[in-house]
Amino acid sequence: MPILEHQFLCRLLTRCLSSELPLTSRASVSPRPSSSLTVPPISVSHANNVPSSPDNVGKFVENNLDMPRVDILKQKMQLLGIDLDNSCLPGQYQNLFCPKCKGGQLEERSLSFHIIPDGEFAMWRCFRTSCGWAGQAFADDKELYRRVGQKSYGTMTEESLGLEPLGAKLIAYFKERLISEKTLSRNAVMQMSDNKNVIAFTYKRNGLLVGCKYRTMEKRFWQGKGTDKILYGLDDISDAAEIIIVEGEIDKLSLEEAGFRNCVSVPGGAPSKVSSKDLPPIEKDAGYQYLWNCKEYLNKVDRIILATDSDPPGQALAEELARRLGRERCWQVHWPKEDEQSLFKDANDVLKCVGADALKRIVENAEPY
Ligand SMILES: [Zn+2]
Repeated sequence: MPILEHQFLCRLLTRCLSSELPLTSRASVSPRPSSSLTVPPISVSHANNVPSSPDNVGKFVENNLDMPRVDILKQKMQLLGIDLDNSCLPGQYQNLFCPKCKGGQLEERSLSFHIIPDGEFAMWRCFRTSCGWAGQAFADDKELYRRVGQKSYGTMTEESLGLEPLGAKLIAYFKERLISEKTLSRNAVMQMSDNKNVIAFTYKRNGLLVGCKYRTMEKRFWQGKGTDKILYGLDDISDAAEIIIVEGEIDKLSLEEAGFRNCVSVPGGAPSKVSSKDLPPIEKDAGYQYLWNCKEYLNKVDRIILATDSDPPGQALAEELARRLGRERCWQVHWPKEDEQSLFKDANDVLKCVGADALKRIVENAEPY
């Protein structure tokens, strides 16, 4: 069985890396309207008929011994809210709707499901990192199912990531950048408990921790395992008609010092230049999944102020964002000259050198993109 499970996971990985991504099942998305991140409606006939709390089902009632194993498994799956249609045969892999997370905002078929060829058991895993529900159900087992890899299911916490409140050294580091303890605390900026020189920017959605980005004082970055691709500070724009997008977490914190909370940061920095190609379909838009994963927040917004860095990558990022968000609702911040040769680099640069009031005015003077 360990070998089978290994094969199952390898197969899952292969499928995730190949064009069989479940997103392709809703992929008739071209041409896309330029003004909003709208996916054309598709018929979705799942997810409404699943039991609301499959975990309360408890033990599975014993079946007629003559019943084929596959039918027993299908009954068990039904109790768990996994909707198997008749095409789901032993030995095949299926992408189904996950009853736990319902496939998230994109309603992806995120649950990879498999019944082994002899029908002895079924196994499944939801590949959405914020969910990760995985289990096995055996045809001749009285238990409804056994959960696999329980740790990864909805249990990302500050403790599980090994985070702790910021210590004096990092608080001083931020203070030098004019970021106050109040702002750090409201944004739940933390540090790694086993390396107190590493900042941890916590990524939350609806108040739940869904990821973490780490940054050393030497400006090295990496992302925590299992991090969802979303905008940083997402919950701060849930009711905003006007938002600001910046290029880094510290710029988001800087804008908060200037009085703007309706600000989010891209999670992964800027591209080196603007792509010369047409926009790819959503599921192939690899570098910008964080936008599509937040589309229900972004679609509601009337005005988007792009406050990316003044360098060429920052300007390329602004263009790539405007292409996807719709130029007509985009405005752009122009960072002023620092001296004869150069511009201020970003929001934190302005905050440090000319202060919060100046930063506020510069953002307010954004011009139509
Ligand atoms: Zn799920």
